[in-house]
Amino acid sequence: MAKDPVCGMQVSESTQFKSEHVGQTFHFCSQGCKSNFDKGPMKYMGGRDMGMGHHWPTPFIFSPRPNENS
Ligand SMILES: [Zn+2]
Repeated sequence: MAKDPVCGMQVSESTQFKSEHVGQTFHFCSQGCKSNFDKGPMKYMGGRDMGMGHHWPTPFIFSPRPNENS
């Protein structure tokens, strides 16, 4: 499962609604969420708040945790 970065829903990675951004693939529950993401991906990347007025509870991370025991 993947997380829809727009609405926060869990979505199947086999969904037809997906976008690639900065080398990552994002999955969406609907065309509407995909469109919102495509219009302003940075709003959903866990970066600066661009007037959204709220923050996502968890950082938007798809990659595995970095190795802490180097
Ligand atoms: Zn959604």
